[in-house]
Amino acid sequence: MSSNLNGATGEYDVIVIGGGPAGATLSALLSQRGRRVLVLERERFPRYHIGESLIPGFMRPMEELGLVETLERRGFEKKQGGTLHWGAQRIPWGFSFIEGGPYSYSYHVRRADLDSIILDRARELGVHVVEEATVKETIEEDGRIVGVKYAIRGSEVDVQEARGTMVVDASGQARVIGRKMTNVNWHDDMRNVAVWTYFDNTERLPGDEASNILIEGLPGGWFWGIPIDTKTMSVGYVTATAAASASGESLEELFHRQLGNSTQLKDLLKDARQSAGFRSARDWSYECDKFYGPGWVLVGDAAAFVDPLFSTGVALATLAGSALSKILDAVLEHPEIEEAALTRYADAYRSFFDEIRTFVGKFYDRTKVKEFYWDQAQTIVDPSRQNDPRKDFVTLVSGLGGKHPLFNIKTDDLIAGTAEPALLNAAS
Ligand SMILES: Cc1cc2nc3c(=O)[nH]c(=O)nc-3n(C[C@H](O)[C@H](O)[C@H](O)COP(=O)(O)OP(=O)(O)OC[C@H]3O[C@@H](n4cnc5c(N)ncnc54)[C@H](O)[C@@H]3O)c2cc1C
Repeated sequence: MSSNLNGATGEYDVIVIGGGPAGATLSALLSQRGRRVLVLERERFPRYHIGESLIPGFMRPMEELGLVETLERRGFEKKQGGTLHWGAQRIPWGFSFIEGGPYSYSYHVRRADLDSIILDRARELGVHVVEEATVKETIEEDGRIVGVKYAIRGSEVDVQEARGTMVVDASGQARVIGRKMTNVNWHDDMRNVAVWTYFDNTERLPGDEASNILIEGLPGGWFWGIPIDTKTMSVGYVTATAAASASGESLEELFHRQLGNSTQLKDLLKDARQSAGFRSARDWSYECDKFYGPGWVLVGDAAAFVDPLFSTGVALATLAGSALSKILDAVLEHPEIEEAALTRYADAYRSFFDEIRTFVGKFYDRTKVKEFYWDQAQTIVDPSRQNDPRKDFVTLVSGLGGKHPLFNIKTDDLIAGTAEPALLNAAS
């Protein structure tokens, strides 16, 4: 086993590219199972990231990581639900997560803080984390990815190598392996652009809604208002990329003009002071056509991303990271089930993702009333219509809906050799 300048030994069970929520959750849980894991992260944490409003689905992997008390102690703003100016009715409506169970809240966070907490936990559980390490390319032998080449910022050595039984791409929208090994299907109905900034000295929503995310739809787009802490609100405007270009305005001009057209958000910001510059992202809803191949697998935004309307990104990334930790642990023990186990992971992940995506697509139709959206949620979460459709809606937007095989992924039948032949041969 060779050793390089940073003490990274040359052979690992799993190499993870990227130490964001997906990569950190996956690697921590694999290490907890006794696997030797290397995380190569391009940045030095804490680093800025968008994605500040979390849904209760995120709490499950945090329980597995033993992080619930840490998050509680950290004092992140508790998010109890959402307030929506959305659809055909004029009156705002909302929901509380407690209606959809089993978690009554999640958090609003500064991602720099949250992501550091998860990556630190991975370190604590034995993961070898190398920051400021940018993966440049993969190493392939006989059609299989067997490692990566990476460069450390400021290092005198140009490129270093690490080898692992499996290599995971958790590099977010950089899609280090995804770019090379897969085709990306962009969701043409969600080719959007977001522009956002931060305000201090904002008002809060009234009463029980004070910590809700505010989502305010306008004819041309929608705003989020996320109270990240007592002082600061994250405010973003999302619209179709084509509409933004057609407006002839800069994104900042568009933001300010549309803010003037808002109702409740404008009120909350009337005495506020913008405390940061603008940031933007565009064209971000997509799905890779393959989630895995020989020696490699994708997780988190590296695999797929759906529009941020329901703040599902971090929950999906960490839930998938958790599921993949179980899958890879089984694959390392029983290499013969690699294809079947990764197919199972990919199918479960894709179907969970598709449920959210389908629902977000329906929700974008703002000619409807709230009962329509509840009904759409029910067809996904509870097709035999056993529950109150409003509850089904909350369950879905909590990230806990559908058949979710991803939450309870198992491989015992594959190991015992009882898998359906069709499953073994299925494409990813
Ligand atoms: C406008 C917008 C608003 C959003 N709002 C929300 C929200 O409110 N709530 C929510 O849950 N989600 C939201 N999201 C989504 C959320 O940000 C992502 O889904 C989430 O960060 C995915 O986590 P990840 O670990 O897959 O990727 P990331 O968090 O992006 O982490 C990937 C990591 O890989 C590293 N990396 C990249 N390339 C390399 C390389 N070559 N070598 C080594 N490391 C590398 C990066 O530095 C990064 O740290 C939003 C997204 C957008 C675009």
